[in-house]
Amino acid sequence: MNLSRRQLLAGASASAAATVLSHPRMAASETTLDSNPLPGVVRQWIGSSQVTALLDGYMEMPADLFSIPSSEAEELLVRAFKEDQPNLSPVNAFLLNLGEHLVLIDTGAANSFGPTLGKLPEALEAHGVSADQIDAVLVTHLHPDHIAGAIDDTGSAVFPNAELIVPETEFRYWHDDAAVAAAPDAFKPFFATARLAAKAYATRTTLISREAEVLPGLLSVPLPGHTPGHTGYIVTSGDDSLFIWADIIHNVTFQLTHPEWGPVFDVDPAQSARTRLRALDMAASDRLLVAGMHMPFPAMGHISAGAEGFYYMPAEWPYHR
Ligand SMILES: [Zn+2]
Repeated sequence: MNLSRRQLLAGASASAAATVLSHPRMAASETTLDSNPLPGVVRQWIGSSQVTALLDGYMEMPADLFSIPSSEAEELLVRAFKEDQPNLSPVNAFLLNLGEHLVLIDTGAANSFGPTLGKLPEALEAHGVSADQIDAVLVTHLHPDHIAGAIDDTGSAVFPNAELIVPETEFRYWHDDAAVAAAPDAFKPFFATARLAAKAYATRTTLISREAEVLPGLLSVPLPGHTPGHTGYIVTSGDDSLFIWADIIHNVTFQLTHPEWGPVFDVDPAQSARTRLRALDMAASDRLLVAGMHMPFPAMGHISAGAEGFYYMPAEWPYHR
């Protein structure tokens, strides 16, 4: 029997109506439609380590924030069923439970980019982790959506027992007055946020070199361009590994097809494009599980190379081990 789409839909609505009528106390008018977002928390195993994706929220990144010919952007948005939606970029952080250490990679935007962000504390609470349990805060770079959550409204440290671990090149860049002078006016406030956060942890900051074993099973990988010290981290446990590649991708719809398209706030756009292509190539050829700060939550998956650029294969929801 061939069931047409129309017959299928007619059948579906008839059976849906019958279901509602047979359970009158479950009528839609009596349910609560709560628009507050639920905390975003998904825990994944990497060998004997746990990596938890934590959603800080969303920011809008319209197509004109990327170096994209507008007709091509529209075509890609239609293909991704996103032409009528705002272009959203999630902001994710990752909590690593390495057994000996509880490490937070990036801290979210706090209130620096508006009310749709700053939900990291709620995600941590939903996970059952308090700020004082975290013994290291590791940053990929010092943009506000990665470091502002390390301090509160008064500029005090949010994580009272954490060492702040920062790539040295990144730390130097945000403390360089010549870099402030060279930056476009719109981005100058980023320097103040980075300096305020660094100051709050001044007595307990560790600067790391470009390729460092930060902790046992945790390596840093320099990914320069987005910012000079932009850094990824590879978590390895047993036979498993995860490449947390920070801001290599801000928009999967655009940048997997065109890795050369960067956001306008890349400090060195040409270097950023080269780094993005190198990271995508590495993830695809080494079949690495990757995680990204602006990938669709919970932001872990694999990358494959194909005829029209790269493709993203989201990892399965980790139901059990
Ligand atoms: Zn970012």
